[in-house]
Amino acid sequence: MRVTKRFLLLLGVLSFALAHLATAQSVTSISKKGHIPADSLFKLVYVPIDVPTGIAELRVKEIYSQQGKNVLNLGIYGPEGYQMGNTAGFRGWSGGAKTEFFLNAQEASTGYIPGKIKPGRWHILIYPSTILPEGIDWELAVSLVPGPDKPAFQLMPAPASVNNQPGWYRGDLHMHTLHSDGKRTPQELVNEAVAQGLDFIVSTEHNTNSANLSWGKYAPKNLLIINGEEVTTTAFGHWNAMGLSPTTLIEWRYTSQDKAVTKYLAQVHADSGLAIINHAFYTKECINGFGFDVKDFDGIEVWNGQWDALDELALKWWDDLLRAGTAKLAVADSDTHTAAPSPNQLGRPQTVVKAKSLSRSGIMQGLRKGNAYLSADNKLRLTLTATAGAATANLGDRLPAVVGKKVQVAFTLQQIPAQAVVTLHGEKGVLFTEQAAIGKAATWHWTVPAGATKYVRVEVRTPQGEMLALTNPIWLG
Ligand SMILES: [Zn+2]
Ligand SMILES: [Zn+2]
Repeated sequence: MRVTKRFLLLLGVLSFALAHLATAQSVTSISKKGHIPADSLFKLVYVPIDVPTGIAELRVKEIYSQQGKNVLNLGIYGPEGYQMGNTAGFRGWSGGAKTEFFLNAQEASTGYIPGKIKPGRWHILIYPSTILPEGIDWELAVSLVPGPDKPAFQLMPAPASVNNQPGWYRGDLHMHTLHSDGKRTPQELVNEAVAQGLDFIVSTEHNTNSANLSWGKYAPKNLLIINGEEVTTTAFGHWNAMGLSPTTLIEWRYTSQDKAVTKYLAQVHADSGLAIINHAFYTKECINGFGFDVKDFDGIEVWNGQWDALDELALKWWDDLLRAGTAKLAVADSDTHTAAPSPNQLGRPQTVVKAKSLSRSGIMQGLRKGNAYLSADNKLRLTLTATAGAATANLGDRLPAVVGKKVQVAFTLQQIPAQAVVTLHGEKGVLFTEQAAIGKAATWHWTVPAGATKYVRVEVRTPQGEMLALTNPIWLG
């Protein structure tokens, strides 16, 4: 009995070793090398890789000179093709956040799409977003691992609805996990969203929908997770596509001259989603770091992370558009990459949306209508109404034209978290300024003369000027 057991064990070890040896022996290694000259910043380079039949896993390692000072972005397309707009061919993107990844039928590195390794010509995409004068020497080491496929990847998107209750819902519309350049797992991000008391989050990884395919694994009962993507065109700015179907991928490989962006904005709108311009003023030197025409977008992220001088520029840009009669939704997002406590932690700031339900369509509809205010954290609550005659309009709504009637504006602030200065703004600037005491709830009533302004909106700041809350406008007449 004992001998038989020992013999079987030996046989098992032997066959495992043999199988392992066979696999190791038959892994095909491919090395591709090249040089990118310094004048090729942002230029896309597609490196072809021929994959034979019977391959179960593909592994890629990127090696390049002066890593850190140079940044060589990385992604991959399958045999379905890599042409612009070919989403069937897309198999993942990690930008400058990773230098190696793997793919098989069941799993993939974060940022990449699991699925069968089909035979044919694949293309690895590399491009420099930072490059030294001496250029970049690069190598791609590809391993093709033969064998039977693992069981197929199971799509598990987040539920599109949490409840059917109308209400004001607090959310963060911009964040990153390990699926792009964030430092948290999806589970860690979800845990933090729950701890922050958020009602919803929008998943916005750079140029990939890989996270959206599996949010259902992590979604708790009371947290709505909305699919999105941060469309990241390094040279022309970033924008968030949100409210997407889990398998929707929005293309990013075009310039502001191509006019192609309108096609992809239409794709977002076809999903009943929204397109929001992110951190338009990336640096103080840029007058407007965003290269595309604002008119095609639904909104502007006027508040990204901790309030600073760049947010002040974005606010002015948005306000100038309002004054010119161009209504764009204003949103506040953390753009969080690291766990709390951090300068840009999840939910700071956040956007509070009036919605018919806590669902993807409910939140998108509330945002589309501008029924939203922006808050530094989860404490502050406010209401803004405008009344003329028998008509009353809420935040984001339009007060019907009441000729010759004065407009009564009421603003309520609850749980005032700090000493605050409240200002009512119209198209010609500040209409009223008030002081708010810490801790107390307060309501202010203002009378705006008929025809004095096309809209009213409120800002709440600390006496030092840091933003605490900001409303979208009520349009008058
Ligand atoms: Zn960005
Ligand atoms: Zn971002």
